[in-house]
Amino acid sequence: METKAIRGFNDVLPDEIGKWQFVEKTAREVFEGFGFSEIRIPILEKTELFTRGIGEATDIVEKEMYTFTDRSGNSLTLRPEATASMARAYLEHQMYAFDPVAKLYCMGPMFRYERPQKGRYRQFNQIDAEVFGVGNPMVDAEVIIMLIHFLEGVGMGNLELQLNSLGCRECRPRYREELKKFFAGKSAQLCEDCQRRLQTNPLRIFDCKVETCKEAIADAPRVIDFICPECQKHFDQVKEYLAMAGLTYVLNPRMVRGLDYYTRTAFEVVSYSLGAQNAVTGGGRYDNLFQEIGGLDIPGIGFAIGVERLISLLPKEKEFIQVPHLFVAALGEEGYREAYKLVNQLHLQGIRAELDYEGKSLKSQMRRADKLKVRYTLILGENELRQGRVVLRNMEDKSQEEVPIDGLSLLLRSKLLGH
Ligand SMILES: [Zn+2]
Ligand SMILES: [Zn+2]
Repeated sequence: METKAIRGFNDVLPDEIGKWQFVEKTAREVFEGFGFSEIRIPILEKTELFTRGIGEATDIVEKEMYTFTDRSGNSLTLRPEATASMARAYLEHQMYAFDPVAKLYCMGPMFRYERPQKGRYRQFNQIDAEVFGVGNPMVDAEVIIMLIHFLEGVGMGNLELQLNSLGCRECRPRYREELKKFFAGKSAQLCEDCQRRLQTNPLRIFDCKVETCKEAIADAPRVIDFICPECQKHFDQVKEYLAMAGLTYVLNPRMVRGLDYYTRTAFEVVSYSLGAQNAVTGGGRYDNLFQEIGGLDIPGIGFAIGVERLISLLPKEKEFIQVPHLFVAALGEEGYREAYKLVNQLHLQGIRAELDYEGKSLKSQMRRADKLKVRYTLILGENELRQGRVVLRNMEDKSQEEVPIDGLSLLLRSKLLGH
């Protein structure tokens, strides 16, 4: 057997985990500050939830889902995204009965059978935030403000907010027809996938990366020119609320979200901090999703952040690796017994102390302490211990002092934890 993970599935190793924990902690703090609560949803759902929620004619449902039949013959799917499941939970538990407005976030792995490439995985992680039950454009602005605040909180700079409106179920059919007509005239230019999309979901042609398709897209009609007065008013208000909060934005009429359920406000945040333009995350309003999955007419808006991608864009100078506070080096049997006792005490007080388990020489213990990048080493020699003292060595400036064992943990706490 080959000891290797499945292609597209990866490990996050201890030297990377600091970034993950930082991103997750910041998300919790920012979102909860905006009145959001965490929800945890299952990894598996009935396949139907996604085919109906995301839409049959999408890449996700057509070719990217991990779908299988369980032992009872049910078709199940590993969640490819979180919004449909969160909406399902809101309906199933009748959360609207308590309060029609639900502000929820969740984080965890999603699964899509995509071609693995650098930075893209088949099991990938998302942080999702959604507001259910409010159609007011004020909430569109609030969600966007929260997203920007979060991104700045993790250190992302040079951000640009891009906006578009995708219309609603009243006005979008008219645009679809217009788009069909337009692309039908360019059909020779379209790739095989887009030929099919032209029949099933012409909006998805905008997502195509094939060069000839991109050329065909260049002068396609813009959805913003076809939205109804209600959608226009909604969009104008979103822009006004963003301006009131001091946020600047640019309009991007070519932004069309790949999933069927999006309506009205669509947004994307791009970063220019690594030179080129990098899409960081996006989201939007989806006032049709609930009807697709459950029959109730409930508006929703939210965003999903790809965590792997976000982490790859984080500023490099930030130090995330967690090193032990202290190495305890011991000599002789008595030294080891003391070291063991002491390390246990320190752990209970939240001090990350490491010791040598193998009775190695002081020299090799110090080498390990260096490798672990600890700030201090405590040396427990038999002579010093007899006098009730130990040696504390500062690993940065190489200075050392003898300190009494009495009151040692107090001293270490103040040196290492600052309290
Ligand atoms: Zn409309
Ligand atoms: Zn194409």
